[in-house]
Amino acid sequence: MIEKILTGKTALVTGATRGIGKAIALELANQGATVYATATSEAGATEITNYLQQNSYHGQGLVLNVAETVSIKNVTDFLQEQKIIVDILVNNAGITRDNLLLRMKDEEWEQVIQTNLTGVFKLCKNFSRPMLKQHWGRIINISSITAIVGNPGQTNYAAAKAGVMGFSKSLALELASRQITVNVVAPGFIATDMTHSLTEAQREHACKMIPIGSMGTPEDIATLVAFLASPAAKYITGETITVAGGLAIH
Ligand code: NAP
Repeated sequence: MIEKILTGKTALVTGATRGIGKAIALELANQGATVYATATSEAGATEITNYLQQNSYHGQGLVLNVAETVSIKNVTDFLQEQKIIVDILVNNAGITRDNLLLRMKDEEWEQVIQTNLTGVFKLCKNFSRPMLKQHWGRIINISSITAIVGNPGQTNYAAAKAGVMGFSKSLALELASRQITVNVVAPGFIATDMTHSLTEAQREHACKMIPIGSMGTPEDIATLVAFLASPAAKYITGETITVAGGLAIH
């Protein structure tokens, strides 16, 4: 039997009830990892546990709101009590609160920065310490093509996601000597709830702009995340890899 690439590893995946996070949790588990994957509600956490169990994968759902320090502490404490060391951290949880700058409310700015950027900072800070001790770790942060090319109505989202890129490069430099890699995956248009609100016309327009001619799937992101998490990706750090059907080629 061929050994799976993540056998023996433990992963924490944020925002895994649906979309890209769910696909990542399933792919990491499929590759042999024990996966702790998070939802903002108890019901969501139960659903995650169920989909892992249905596939006979190891792991469970946990409740986590990355915008709340106390919630991050609860998850950290739970894992510590169970003596679980997170080898692979995937910061996937993210929200949009789109508006043109002149109409953007302070709350829309703050919620997006808090969830999409500050949450990444706090989780990396918490979970990199044990990685430093064991001299091995993988951190994969999910950004967006919006951070690279911009998008009207998304100044808050673009700022947070570009922040994740700069943050990850600096953290990669801080952690590299301990064999901990930090990379960013920047998806383009991926068919999930987040892009579900696009009108048919917007979807058609987007597909015309994408050289490959279609939206991506959550699995397109998940396979790359699994590779970056694997021992084979040991010499890749501080990179942002775009998965966008050629949208960011320039
Ligand atoms: P999605 O379908 O809207 O799912 C978002 C996930 O994030 C859900 O599991 C949600 O949990 C979780 N979440 C939301 N707020 C949270 C919070 N405060 N704390 C913890 N978890 C929270 O999104 P998606 O399309 O899969 O996107 C996943 C990631 O990819 C995001 O970072 C997004 O910015 C990025 N991305 C997506 C696209 C795309 O085209 N879809 C493109 C570029 C980048 P609940 O269900 O419990 O609310």
